[in-house]
Amino acid sequence: MKKVLTIAGSDSSGGAGIQADIKTITAHKMYAMSAITALTAQNTIGVYGVVDTPPDFVAAQLDCIFTDIAPDAVKIGMVSNPEIIQTIAEKLREYQAKNIVIDPVMISTSGSRLLSDDALETLHTALLPLGTVITPNIPEAEVLCGREIKTKKDMLQAAEAITASLDTAVLIKGGHLSGDAADLLCQTGNAPAAFLKEWFESPRVENSNTHGTGCTLSSAIACNLAAGRRLEESVRRAKKYLTGALKEQLDLGKGAGPLDHMY
Ligand code: PLP
Repeated sequence: MKKVLTIAGSDSSGGAGIQADIKTITAHKMYAMSAITALTAQNTIGVYGVVDTPPDFVAAQLDCIFTDIAPDAVKIGMVSNPEIIQTIAEKLREYQAKNIVIDPVMISTSGSRLLSDDALETLHTALLPLGTVITPNIPEAEVLCGREIKTKKDMLQAAEAITASLDTAVLIKGGHLSGDAADLLCQTGNAPAAFLKEWFESPRVENSNTHGTGCTLSSAIACNLAAGRRLEESVRRAKKYLTGALKEQLDLGKGAGPLDHMY
């Protein structure tokens, strides 16, 4: 049995965060573990409250997990503030965690901030370089590379800039641009300043219930890495899983509803 750890925030409505991650990991027939960084009081309409976990309690959760059941992959989502980010980075290094997928969650689907203003610098310098791959959407990629992304050409330039600055693979999710859902994976090549780039395209699924899509994709990538697959193949399979969960058109709640993990 492969074991996958999610380090993320709780979404009380079950659509995103820890709950989406555990559903995804379970659907991949793997064993899910969680270290919770924050509680959110939210539903499909909005986020009504956030309580961050004290950093030493994030550390305690990670110590308990890593000293007992070593994860085959780690997915990281909402990390809230600089102290929590530093704690996670220290623990990942201490336990030599492998197959780390980081979804740099900044804003919820419903528009609430899930990362404090002062946390960006720490995220950039302490945590993101530890990722096997990071999975920003377009607005998050714009923040990470400091430039606007309006076209697929902009995506290519942004991906190179992010990969070069972090020395980490990046998957920029193109869902915020119009047209088909085209995601771009960029990794460093063998030669200096050489990049390996691959597009992953799938027809756009017309479904306004997209709460938890980022969480689901990053967890599915972590599961495939845990299974020993290469990054490209892991991304391909994770996208297929996400498309299936979106296609079911599960329509729960009054706002942007969740995905169906039992398709
Ligand atoms: N993590 C938590 C706890 C959230 O509440 C959300 C969104 O509301 C996210 C992550 C990001 O969600 P998504 O996968 O829709 O980007």
